[in-house]
Amino acid sequence: MASKVYMMDFRANPKENLYSKLAKLLEAAGLPKAVGERDLVAVKLHFGEMGNTAFIRPVFIRQIVGMVKATGGIPFLTDANTLYAGTRSDSPTHIKTAVENGFGYSTVEAPIIIADGLRGRSETAVEVNHKHCKEVYIGSEIVNSDFIISAAHFKGHELSGFGGAIKNLGMGCASRRGKLVQHSGVAPKVVRKKCVGCGDCLSHCSQKAITVTDKKASINKDTCIGCGECILICQEEAINIAWSKSIPTFLKKMIEYTAGVVKGKEKKLININFLTDINPACDCYAHNDAPLVRDIGILASVDPIAIDQASTDLVNQEHALPGCSLTANQEAGGDKFKGLYPYVDWPLQLEYAESLGIGSRTYDLVKIG
Ligand code: SF4
Ligand code: SF4
Repeated sequence: MASKVYMMDFRANPKENLYSKLAKLLEAAGLPKAVGERDLVAVKLHFGEMGNTAFIRPVFIRQIVGMVKATGGIPFLTDANTLYAGTRSDSPTHIKTAVENGFGYSTVEAPIIIADGLRGRSETAVEVNHKHCKEVYIGSEIVNSDFIISAAHFKGHELSGFGGAIKNLGMGCASRRGKLVQHSGVAPKVVRKKCVGCGDCLSHCSQKAITVTDKKASINKDTCIGCGECILICQEEAINIAWSKSIPTFLKKMIEYTAGVVKGKEKKLININFLTDINPACDCYAHNDAPLVRDIGILASVDPIAIDQASTDLVNQEHALPGCSLTANQEAGGDKFKGLYPYVDWPLQLEYAESLGIGSRTYDLVKIG
């Protein structure tokens, strides 16, 4: 059955600005009716790595927070700590980064609670009984919440092709152990003839798994956790993985984690995808490259699969912007995600999610005027 995906574009006029359009969008998606009195509402987002500017504007998050409060819900902003070395790998630095990126209480009017605690070890095991994972490890405060609003910045992603609601839920809500499980099959290798020995990859490896000797990098497979950070950092494209073997399992595990996050919250979940600053890679990098296509709009749906399917379709319908990194599939209708990451079979995650009954790839797009 087709799921409803609501959409607002970025046209505005003196009588209707983008805040009021966002309120209309969330009303259409059912937020006021779905959030109950005194529900503890986890607004799950990515606060952006320090140095990145593509994350969701905090003022939009304040609008979501305001609507939750108006329904009698109690909102908090949340994310789980990262696997890699960066500015969000433990709660103190994560909160500091969030505040520096504009998500402080004075702007957003909701507190920040990191879902998996001080060091990413506060987790709850959720039984899913799927092929790759019998149970999944989710940040406890996500499981403890009454309601989840996934507020995802939609963009390309080097391991999953794109990042939207699924990535925000399945990977973003996982504890460190959960993230490790999902990345465990990703085993990068250095292509020696391409490596120039610059050492850029070293400082981005949280596990100190990379060494450079005689101007060639090598990766210790015993200490590498497969986070994938080094792949995009290497400007020589000297770090590679066995895409056809590693990625399908990675994607399926991420879907099984998504199943665990939404379990029991099927009627207590709203997904919002921001199709803004649609850059080629994850917001986990301390930079963001030029956007691939124009800002398209904001989508909302109770179905995390339908909203990601609709988001990929809308991006692919666009012509690429001049000056972006895409060198293939720039035309309207061209697959932008394959253009960026030709070896990532991104539709697989949507197919698998649908087969597990998490949502539907078929959707009706309802435009909010
Ligand atoms: S960043 Fe790339 S080129 Fe530089 S040392 Fe690492 S693998 Fe080699
Ligand atoms: S070698 Fe690369 S994939 Fe492995 S842990 Fe280090 S940064 Fe992550």
